[in-house]
Amino acid sequence: MPQDIFLATAIPPALEIALAERFTLHRDTPPPTARVIVGGGMMTVDAALLDQLPALQIIAVHGVGFDGIDREAVAARGIRIAITPDALTDDVADQAIALWLAVDRRIAANDRALRMGNWTVPLGRRATGRRIGIFGLGRIGQAIARRAEPFAAEILYTARSAKPVAWRYVPELAQLAEESDVLILAAPGGTETHGAVDAEVLDRLGADGVLVNIARGSLVDEEALIAALESHRIAGAGLDVFADEPEVPYALRRMNHVVLAPHQGSATREGRAEMAQMVIANLEAHFDGQEPPGLLD
Ligand code: NAP
Repeated sequence: MPQDIFLATAIPPALEIALAERFTLHRDTPPPTARVIVGGGMMTVDAALLDQLPALQIIAVHGVGFDGIDREAVAARGIRIAITPDALTDDVADQAIALWLAVDRRIAANDRALRMGNWTVPLGRRATGRRIGIFGLGRIGQAIARRAEPFAAEILYTARSAKPVAWRYVPELAQLAEESDVLILAAPGGTETHGAVDAEVLDRLGADGVLVNIARGSLVDEEALIAALESHRIAGAGLDVFADEPEVPYALRRMNHVVLAPHQGSATREGRAEMAQMVIANLEAHFDGQEPPGLLD
């Protein structure tokens, strides 16, 4: 019997078509019969929504972020959450490296200048030999570290606990910033990390430092970031995510030492195809009585 799915956000058309072959999809109004929510990593699932979905069994995230899901309320109702890890890890890590190089080598700024007819060659920074600090050394953070290794003088990281890796653990974010030239954010959003990158962290990153954020806009105090960039207290920023997407403050848009991207970390054809397959695999496993491959602990 086809199951009802409530779509909590827009999802890519290919996934929608694949889901529609097996399930009945509902938007806007959550049907009380729905056993499944599907949505992107930015979806909001709170107690009020859960109250409208008494038959809900599983939330299938098209992504790995789940900071918009009230995990306590979900756990209290015995509902599963499944994500799509690994399908996007490499692509998001590539995006982090691309943003760092685009800032340090002025790729976007010089592209803009050339399109305006200005053949000038302002100097960037040498990527080789930079100290790379990574905030969050999970799947994506480790993939970033592996990519950065051939460039880096040193790779440092902060996570909740030290890992059995060769890279140096620095327990505090502000200390990590001080010891890094490039600070790359790869930790989850949520209350624990909200506003973690504040004026102090940015000041300790310093006037030669570059901030790269491929994690969540909520990790950064955006006003403090704008102030630090405008006063050149940091050298630049590469941002894939923002505090209030899809809004991007004009102050960020007008600065040449900032590279902007529309939350495109996982936006490759290959990655999106694998993510869609994994959403389906998670749901099939769930309804076959198996453990979904992307089940959250
Ligand atoms: P993950 O494997 O769960 O890794 C998260 C890492 O962050 C872990 O090392 C964890 O530390 C660390 N962490 C968690 N809370 C922390 C805290 N309070 N302080 C310091 N470190 C903390 O997740 P992932 O797959 O790498 O993804 C990371 C995030 O990237 C996602 O949550 C999502 O928000 C974002 N993302 C963005 C895009 C994009 O398109 N831009 C795409 C996918 C994901 P421990 O290991 O010590 O627990």
